[in-house]
Amino acid sequence: MNKAQAYDRKSLISKARRIVIKIGSAVLTGNGEGLDQKRMEQLAAEVSAVMGQGREVVIVSSGAIAAGLAKLGLKKTKGMPLPLKQAAAAVGQSGLMWMYERIFGSHHRKVAQVLLTREDLSNRTRFLNARNTLHTLLEYGVIPIINENDTVAVDEIKFGDNDNLSGMVVNVADADLLVILSDIDGLYTADPRVHSDAAFIPVVEKITAEMERGAGDAQSTVGTGGMRSKVMTAKKVGSYGVPVVIVNGRKPGAIPSLFEGHAVGTLFLPKGDRTHSRQHWIAYMACSTGGVVVDDGGRDALVQKNKSLLPGGIVRVEGSFKAGECVNCLDQKGQVFARGLSKYSSADLDRIKGLKTSQIAGVLGRKDYDEVIHKDDLVIL
Ligand code: GLU
Repeated sequence: MNKAQAYDRKSLISKARRIVIKIGSAVLTGNGEGLDQKRMEQLAAEVSAVMGQGREVVIVSSGAIAAGLAKLGLKKTKGMPLPLKQAAAAVGQSGLMWMYERIFGSHHRKVAQVLLTREDLSNRTRFLNARNTLHTLLEYGVIPIINENDTVAVDEIKFGDNDNLSGMVVNVADADLLVILSDIDGLYTADPRVHSDAAFIPVVEKITAEMERGAGDAQSTVGTGGMRSKVMTAKKVGSYGVPVVIVNGRKPGAIPSLFEGHAVGTLFLPKGDRTHSRQHWIAYMACSTGGVVVDDGGRDALVQKNKSLLPGGIVRVEGSFKAGECVNCLDQKGQVFARGLSKYSSADLDRIKGLKTSQIAGVLGRKDYDEVIHKDDLVIL
């Protein structure tokens, strides 16, 4: 029996105690007309009911830009200058939180606004600060409502979209389920808006390259993520050992139905057991500022023998990084196969690459460590 047949959907979903719910712009807004209060009230009632079953919820909410654009009398975001989008986000975010305050307040639930940038999660100290705050909010029964801090995030330092952000929040919050609310029922074999014969996929056991290619880019005029970013997020979250469900957030009753064990949406099964938060952080959140190209012997030692990376295995250093930063490990074909925290800076590595550990002190005038990346700081991708 394969994994897809063997899994028990009901228990997989119902045992989840801490859930991240990502709500896309297209779910919250009525086609470019600002926030849809009725739908948001419905969602708050459903989320509140799920919490009433003893679950904790963290919300990752889009909708700031869409709400702000509507207030400013503007329509699409495509081709719009970044400062205008950022201004729209600033206008929309306060309205968004005001709405969340009211709709959850009517269920006697408290909310908190958390705005994050990519840097907040790639920097270990800031990541841990965000983590502590989030855990404290949950301890106090508050629903953290997270969005990207759009007013300060420029393209190079953006999460990309809130699907990706929600995947990272699973790790920050230590959640055991990610529910992505979209304006579509889930994953199809092709885009159902274009291909009438597209078949719905209720369960994904393994994300294939074809699936990644097949899932289209952004579709709606208000959100930024398309199905591809959701599939990529499911892949990263799955490697953390956490299941992901894509559900149509526009359908009333979808959330309770999901937790009652009904076959709602597309369920992505986790890849294996839960991995360590720090390892997952190294693999997907710590920004790679550079890389080291490793020879076949070195690659073998890391991948097959679970060893640390020594200077002898390094043939080239790419980019510039400081000691302690996260770097990519590439094979000689340029494929990234691992990521880890380098104990030496790129400048030092350039001088000791290819050498034996006994030669490090002679070249650098000091030897801080034998290894370049300790196996505990290394993740094979
Ligand atoms: N942060 C954006 C907003 O609140 C949304 C990004 C996204 O939809 O992925 O409007």
